[in-house]
Amino acid sequence: MVNRQKWFNLTVSCEHEKHTVPIFRACAGSRTVPLFKTLMSSYCKNDCKFCAMRCGRRTVRNRWEPMEFAKVAYKLWKMRKIEGVFLSSSVERDPDFTVERQIEAIENLRNMGFTEYVHMRVMPGTSKELIKRAAEISDRIGINIELPNKGHYEDMKLYLNFVQDILKRLRWAAKEVERLQKEDKCKAGLNSQIIVGASDETDKEIIEISDWLYHKLKAQRVYYSRFTPIKNTPLENKKPENPWREYRLYQTSFLLRDYSFHLKDFVFNDNDRLDLRHDPKFLIAEKEELMVDINSEGFKELIKIPGIGLKTAQKILESRPIRDIRTLKSLGVILKRASPFIEVNGIHQSKLTRWIN
Ligand code: SF4
Repeated sequence: MVNRQKWFNLTVSCEHEKHTVPIFRACAGSRTVPLFKTLMSSYCKNDCKFCAMRCGRRTVRNRWEPMEFAKVAYKLWKMRKIEGVFLSSSVERDPDFTVERQIEAIENLRNMGFTEYVHMRVMPGTSKELIKRAAEISDRIGINIELPNKGHYEDMKLYLNFVQDILKRLRWAAKEVERLQKEDKCKAGLNSQIIVGASDETDKEIIEISDWLYHKLKAQRVYYSRFTPIKNTPLENKKPENPWREYRLYQTSFLLRDYSFHLKDFVFNDNDRLDLRHDPKFLIAEKEELMVDINSEGFKELIKIPGIGLKTAQKILESRPIRDIRTLKSLGVILKRASPFIEVNGIHQSKLTRWIN
């Protein structure tokens, strides 16, 4: 587990005022991209049990004025300190009031000539017109699910209607994204985020909603954020979630999105949890008694083998026939993980000792 995403602060002077702003290094493939990542407002009218911004909790709160945000972001971009912005918010007053201010901020920024990446998280319960506008001016749009279903919303005091405020809005956003992509007007993608371990949700519930997001709504990414207790919240004494749970969920997420796996494929224990000791792809292969001929099966079968990723599978197809272990290794196959599931020309190579040399 490598945490490649890091925060740092930058101080920038804008119109005689100094602003210290948070910069987030986001992963984009093999490189990191600095984003100006902030909340439009940290004033919130809601009191979700797990959240640092819940109303009534004593904390430092701020809000950006839309033009002030745009000027600071533009200056950071011109100074080559950022390559994009990520704008979310707490729910100040109501969802539409909040999202209107976010949109105004991004419109100001675009009008100044900012052409880089914009990721906007809009509020649950936002009206259709505002979701449409947010998608038009962003590269990515998201609505946080936070918890995987209605039952957990009640448990965590999220006074939202899960079906109306979350699922319906996600469907609207997905439709907008699809329309814009078809018209080649923008590269907008949909994403969402789930808190892991705040409630007593199971991995199966999280993977079920992730499956729906990826396969029905064609989401670009589902993020998982492991719960850590925050002082002066009702959950301050709850244990932080095990980082391995977040990591395994990310693995399942990529298997859903990139490898065409579905909820039904995963292996759960009696409590509908993943086995944190093992790679979920390995457990699927073991359950299905997977055996794939490296020289004759297609791409879809090759990527089911643990230790073989998308790029490696493509390289195998291009390098056939594969005649020795060295070639397989040089193509990027992790032999230790892959070998129990590989056969060559009909011969199972459990230890790869019978390989044709
Ligand atoms: S999760 Fe969102 S709506 Fe709930 S208290 Fe935090 S900022 Fe407000």
